[in-house]
Amino acid sequence: MAVRQRQHEQDPMIRRTNFDAVESNLTDEQAKLEAARCLNCKNPRCVQGCPVNINIPAFIHEVKEGNIEKAGEVIRESSLLPSVCGRVCPQERQCEGKCVLGIKSEPIAIGALERYVGDSTSLKVGEIKETGKKVAIIGSGCAGITAAADLRRAGHEVVVFEALHKLGGVLRYGIPPFRLPRKFLDKEIENLKSMGVKFVTNVVVGKSITVKQLKEDGFDAIVIGSGAGLPKMMGIPGENLNGVYSANEFLTRVNLMQANLEETATPIRVGEKVAVIGGGNVAMDAARVAVRVGFKKVYIVYRRTEAELPARLEEIRHAKEEGVVFQFLHAPKEIYNKDGYVAGMQFEIMELGEPDESGRRKPIPTGKTIDLDVDTVVVALGTGPNPTIQASMLRDDMNLTTDKKGYIVIEAETGKTSVDCIYAGGDVAPTGSSTAINAMGAGKRAAAAINAMLAQN
Ligand code: FAD
Ligand code: SF4
Repeated sequence: MAVRQRQHEQDPMIRRTNFDAVESNLTDEQAKLEAARCLNCKNPRCVQGCPVNINIPAFIHEVKEGNIEKAGEVIRESSLLPSVCGRVCPQERQCEGKCVLGIKSEPIAIGALERYVGDSTSLKVGEIKETGKKVAIIGSGCAGITAAADLRRAGHEVVVFEALHKLGGVLRYGIPPFRLPRKFLDKEIENLKSMGVKFVTNVVVGKSITVKQLKEDGFDAIVIGSGAGLPKMMGIPGENLNGVYSANEFLTRVNLMQANLEETATPIRVGEKVAVIGGGNVAMDAARVAVRVGFKKVYIVYRRTEAELPARLEEIRHAKEEGVVFQFLHAPKEIYNKDGYVAGMQFEIMELGEPDESGRRKPIPTGKTIDLDVDTVVVALGTGPNPTIQASMLRDDMNLTTDKKGYIVIEAETGKTSVDCIYAGGDVAPTGSSTAINAMGAGKRAAAAINAMLAQN
């Protein structure tokens, strides 16, 4: 059995000083060799493992035959952003985790092949027949831009309203460029613009304009894809000190506002030692950005063990290689204060008990504490939905149903909310784990439901 092909990676000691892509793409020869390993299974388990059921054996077959354009068409039937998903999906838990080759050897490098195809092909759009209908999309993240593509292809006028000055949501302000080089995101957004999708930036729906006004302006349907950008904090003493950041703020300052550059209007205070609290992809990104902006010691502090870390395996490996130090079984207790600034942090040592409702073993406090010498703390403990849109709809007596955490309640198959002609999807209305591909799947489902609705009107 041929061995799995690997992408070339920048040396960790060099890449920890730059924001360039960690991995280069498979070469043409490698892609063909990798594609030739696929067994083209009759019952392809990889397809079941993919949240949007990309026809994986079919696109891999096209790569093997050298038909890269055709491979791109096969993938884009199910996923608008192969360059993104090939880089950020947790393949080891999805498609690759199901590949039969993984039982005795290594699974096909489905993610690497997907990005290889995505990077060298573009969305093809035939003639668009205008319907005269108008759809507004709130938010330009994965959910919003996927819905925009499918709605525009069906011939509707599509306007995307985005609160920030740049487009792409988390793909722009959260995931760092060394994981997702911006040229691939820019390419997809340019494609949408050339199809006629209109983008309006610097508009906070719920403040600059309301959903009710959008309806009054004649939009026949609205998709809310406003994400979940409201950080969860720890609720411990010292959390308001200078030097404490939410991961969202920390990453946004660097990714969107270039806080890493010397001349910048939005700097971050680069200290000596930083504790990043959390164990997901966001924590890995914050830690690896902290390495690159010049912190000398970067800790990831997590209250369970390595086995329970929710981040992608590759990100954990990359973080370790880049010198990030992991402290497991530590729960934050207090941040010490010196003249209003972070002056160290106290943690309680935990041990693992029985599995909790998430299936992971629950951390149990031992009563013992330990101090960590840090001058900066980045909190990456998850986020919730920003309440702006929901609150403004409530003020306008639009009966939008939300759950007790403020997420919008939707019909999973269609994205329909409790308000007529208003749909939602992605992190603001999660129907599974909050991942890029799930947000895209939700955008696709909402678009399909709106296309069906508008076809009847
Ligand atoms: P978002 O991408 O958050 O987009 C929402 C957009 O709506 C934003 O642009 C926001 O500015 C805009 N908006 C919000 N409110 C308003 C308003 N009132 N008016 C107008 N616009 C508004 N997933 C993976 O699969 N793999 C990973 O490796 C991974 N890593 C991640 C790393 C980080 C740092 C983060 C933060 C997330 C990561 N995720 C990862 C999760 C994944 O990126 C998200 O689940 C997905 O991008 C959500 O897409 P979305 O469209 O729902 O929301
Ligand atoms: Fe190919 Fe693996 Fe999918 Fe089978 S399960 S079709 S070998 S990628």
